[in-house]
Amino acid sequence: MSKQGFTTRQVHADRLLNTPEHGGVHTSTSNSVLFEFSDAQGIIDAFQGKRAAHVYSRSSSPSVAALQNMLNDLEGGLGALCFSTGMSAISSTLFSLLKAGDHLIVSQYLFGNTRSFFDTLADYGVQITFADVTDIQNVKEAYLPNTKGVYTETVANPVTQVADLRAIGQYCEERNILFMVDNTMTPPPLFYAKELKASLIFCSLTKYISGHGNVLGGAVIDTGLFNWKGFGNIKSAYQVADEAQWGLTQIKKKGLRDLGATLAPQSATAIALGMETLSLRLARACENSQKLAMFLDNHPKVKHVFYPGLASHPQHFMAREQLKRGYGAILSFTLVDDIDPVQFLNALELVICATHLGDNRTLALPVAPTIYFENTAEEREAMGVSDTMIRISVGIEDTDDLINDFTNAFDRKYAAE
Ligand SMILES: *Cc1c(COP(=O)(O)O)cnc(C)c1O
Repeated sequence: MSKQGFTTRQVHADRLLNTPEHGGVHTSTSNSVLFEFSDAQGIIDAFQGKRAAHVYSRSSSPSVAALQNMLNDLEGGLGALCFSTGMSAISSTLFSLLKAGDHLIVSQYLFGNTRSFFDTLADYGVQITFADVTDIQNVKEAYLPNTKGVYTETVANPVTQVADLRAIGQYCEERNILFMVDNTMTPPPLFYAKELKASLIFCSLTKYISGHGNVLGGAVIDTGLFNWKGFGNIKSAYQVADEAQWGLTQIKKKGLRDLGATLAPQSATAIALGMETLSLRLARACENSQKLAMFLDNHPKVKHVFYPGLASHPQHFMAREQLKRGYGAILSFTLVDDIDPVQFLNALELVICATHLGDNRTLALPVAPTIYFENTAEEREAMGVSDTMIRISVGIEDTDDLINDFTNAFDRKYAAE
């Protein structure tokens, strides 16, 4: 299938990868929690890993397996595992691969809940160094003998810092440490993390992949590039058969089976349906974002716009080199001092005031008093989050309607003006 274009593949993936029953073009939703074995030796072999079979749906089931195949194909990986949310994909994977005494280098520009989770991981004895990943030098300086890996997002939210993924990938390969990339913000075909040597790709399926704001899910994809033999934390029970599978086996047993944040089969079906239009939705959202960013950048009532597609963005050049088909659909901005961001948000009519991102609808949020409310002022400053910043997750509406909504909101008279 790899010769065909992205959009062709995404609409035929389920049919071709999973050969649904009765010639259907979709894998059906399979509700069974348990699976019958006509011969008792069969269930023994399945438990002992000598035979691939669904046994109990906390660990695997047909609809979830079909979605895993599609996600793995999307990222060009060795295998994928789904979880109930993006957060559980991240937390279950890290809990299953790390031990107290290990060290991780982590981007200081992270989705707020992921950042909060790393603080929890530190409480369990994993040493964390937060670093500015826009410059490889900071990553190199953070390296310690017990460093197990580097964790970063592609384009950070809300300030849109772009990680130097090419240099970090190269460095992780040289050190033989895990390169973990959360690709939620720039899923294929915008960016292929495997091309820049990612070992594990995380994705919140809740965002662009499903796209419609009606289902939660998460995934981890093993690209097959990492040498698990030198990792040191794979339990002997999972050091069996093909060593390329060691990582996924441990994540599946310790992360998915034992922690139990399983994706529901109904959710897998909804996510697979959303995925069929991923490239079309992303193209439109990126186009709207570029136009809206330029409109805001030129507006006298806007102080600053953060969007990698603007030439003024500090990592614009790196973004242009790394992101092939658009700069993503998150942008943030600050208003001139005499406009209250809360009043401004209330003046938007089409744009929805809501958290969440990667939705078909355009959403706006004041970030400092919401997502980053639990952080100290110093922590917010290190992340580049200012008190009055507004984050926009740009949707797929007609561009003119979005620009009109912002124009009308700017044209309102504000108390302080
Ligand atoms: C939303 C998000 C997550 C968490 O995903 P959920 O599905 O909401 O749990 C993780 N990383 C990034 C970059 C996100 O935007």
